[in-house]
Formats: sequence, C-alpha cells, structure tokens
Amino acid sequence: MAEKKHSIWVFGDYRNYFQNRVTLQLLSRANDLAKMIDAEVCATVFGHEVDEWVGEYIAHGASKVYVCDHPALTFYSTDIYVVLMERLVRQYGPEIILVGATSFGREFAPRLAKRLKTGLTADCVGLDINDEGLLVQTAPAFGGSLLTRIVTPEKRPQMATVRPGVFQEIPHNYQAAGEIVNVPLPDDLPGDRIRLVSSERQAAREQKLGDASVVVCGGRGMGSRKKFRNLYELARVLGGEVGATRPVVYAKWADEDALVGQADKHISPKVLFSFGISGAIQHTAGIKNAGFIIAVNKNPNAAMMKMADVAIVADAGQVCTALIRELKKRIRS
Ligand SMILES: Cc1cc2nc3c(=O)[nH]c(=O)nc-3n(C[C@H](O)[C@H](O)[C@H](O)COP(=O)(O)OP(=O)(O)OC[C@H]3O[C@@H](n4cnc5c(N)ncnc54)[C@H](O)[C@@H]3O)c2cc1C
Repeated sequence: MAEKKHSIWVFGDYRNYFQNRVTLQLLSRANDLAKMIDAEVCATVFGHEVDEWVGEYIAHGASKVYVCDHPALTFYSTDIYVVLMERLVRQYGPEIILVGATSFGREFAPRLAKRLKTGLTADCVGLDINDEGLLVQTAPAFGGSLLTRIVTPEKRPQMATVRPGVFQEIPHNYQAAGEIVNVPLPDDLPGDRIRLVSSERQAAREQKLGDASVVVCGGRGMGSRKKFRNLYELARVLGGEVGATRPVVYAKWADEDALVGQADKHISPKVLFSFGISGAIQHTAGIKNAGFIIAVNKNPNAAMMKMADVAIVADAGQVCTALIRELKKRIRS
C-alpha cells in the first residue's frame, strides 16, 4: 500500500472504560477526516503491558500504533508522556493530533502544544476539514453561549482536545491489520516532578451516564426536588441513568455530574426520556446522538417536543409516577 503523506494521531487514553471510549470515538472521527485529506490514522500508547489496548485501537480503526511499553510508564505521568510525545511528533510529523478532553487530556495536551509551539483548541464538540484541507475545530466560546470554528493555518500539528460522547465509535473489527511501531524508552527522559504515593479507582457516575443506553432526563418542569427524585426510581426500573438540565443542577435537585448539554456532557442513549425540559439549544447540543426520544411537557410547542419521536402533552410528575407504577406491575406479573 502506498505510504500516506499525512497522518492523524489519536492519543491513546486507556486508563478505564470511560477514557478508552473517548479514544475509540476519536479514532472513528479520525477515519472520516483521514479520507478527506488522504491521511493514515495512528494511535499512540504509552504504559506497561499495553498489548490489549494496541489490539483494541487497531480493531477500532488505527492503521498504525506507536507503542512505548516500559515498567517506568506503569503510571500516567504528564511530565514524561509530554516529552515522549514531543519527540515522536518531531520525528514523524503528524498533521493532526486529537486528545480526549479527559482530566488527563486537558492537562497533557496544552503542555504538548506549548512545547511544539503550535495551537490547541480545547473541548471541541465538532471536527471537520475545510476546502483548504485544514482541520476545522468547533468549540464553545464565551462561557458556552457561542460555538466558534477555529483553524490553524500555519503551525503544525493542528491539535484539539475533544469532549467524550461527541462522536460515535465504529464497531470493532478484530480481523483488522495494523502496523505496530515499538518506541524504545529514551534514557534521557526528565525525572517526574510528581511522586505517586498511591492510587485508588473511584466509581464514576459520569462514566455511566455517558455510556447508558437508557437515560431519564429531567428539567425545571418536574416542579420540585421531591418530584425530581422520582426520576431516579424510574431510571432504576428501566436500568438507566438520570440526566438533568442546568436549572435543575443549580437548584440542587441533581448533582453536577448529571448535567447534560454543551457546557458539560454529551450523551448517546438508545432511548432518552425527557421530562419537563424546554429544549434550549445548550441542552439539546448534548443529546443530538440520542436514539429514540420520548418527551413529556405541558407545552406542546416546546422545542423538546418538536425534537421528540413521541411527545406526550401532560404533567411530567404524573407521567413519571404512572410509568413507575405500570413498569413495576409488569415486572411483577
Ligand atoms: C452559557 C450557557 C450555557 C448553558 N449550558 C447548559 C447546559 O449545558 N445544559 C443545560 O441543560 N442548560 C444549559 N444552559 C441553560 C439553557 O439555556 C436553558 O436555560 C436550560 O436548558 C433550561 O432548562 P429546563 O428545560 O429545565 O428549564 P425551562 O427552560 O424553564 O423549561 C421547563 C419546561 O418544563 C415545562 N413544564 C413546566 N411545568 C411542567 C409540568 N408540570 N409538566 C411538564 N412540563 C412542564 C415547560 O413548558 C418548559 O418547557 C446554558 C445557558 C447558558 C447561557
């Protein structure tokens, strides 16, 4: 196969299921973009005993993986990973680098961009290629009230961090072949300025909401904290998770990590219930990948009702209670 002139790199953030999903979503979008600029899609994997992830990334669309596998890389280290990546980038010259906007990605990518003296668009919610073949990076600006499109005409590589849930991963293909480039650990790496004393995995709700196939989302129209809490019962019966709009989070009816929308979380459930939500653009930006939407609202003209596959004009609290009762009855019988 002819060598491609350009390459798009995706930083492999594999620490747990959630972070790995972002990487897979980016590999998927990188494949779309690669077709537009005739580029190859590569992933990088740094760590120790990482074969599983290398295979996973090839199965999800990476045609080449740069792997640095060494006991010294057992734990994530911003200092070391940035230097390693910088050297690889200088050696191989990728056109584009994509990093998941995870807490690590948000720490890692700006430092890398600084060392490479290039630009970085943080927290993108869209990626495309324009007529000049430049990466168009869509990101919220001015506190999320505007979406802005950014290109990097001169500096290379073009770099972006991308929010989880914006793109859909492509189904894995374990028959896919990919090239593995083993990168030795340089012996002149800087010491890590941070010493890891211990680490403990915290069960993350965020992860569950982003990956849930059923989400029950509630808005101000639920009327009170007490009524809103019924949505948790409905989600439990349906085996789903609860999401919320901003006013609900501000009113402390739901935790911050339940917020859905452009300011925070993009979700892609197969079925989305939307109770008492008007459908403001800042909220619907986070649900555009939802499959089937059932909305309940007193106002038939609410934007959310227009967007729904099934729109029920009724009191949200009453429909929620009735649904719980009916579903429980069916489970019992
Ligand atoms: C910079 C910025 C960023 C933002 N980011 C986000 C974000 O990430 N996520 C987000 O959600 N919002 C965000 N917002 C807020 C957003 O603009 C909306 O204000 C918010 O989504 C509205 O929430 P809501 O639908 O719960 O409330 P409302 O807009 O007040 O809608 C309540 C709905 O409930 C219906 N209703 C009332 N009573 C009942 C009843 N008894 N039964 C059934 N229906 C009823 C009403 O008809 C109405 O449609 C942001 C705003 C700004 C300015």
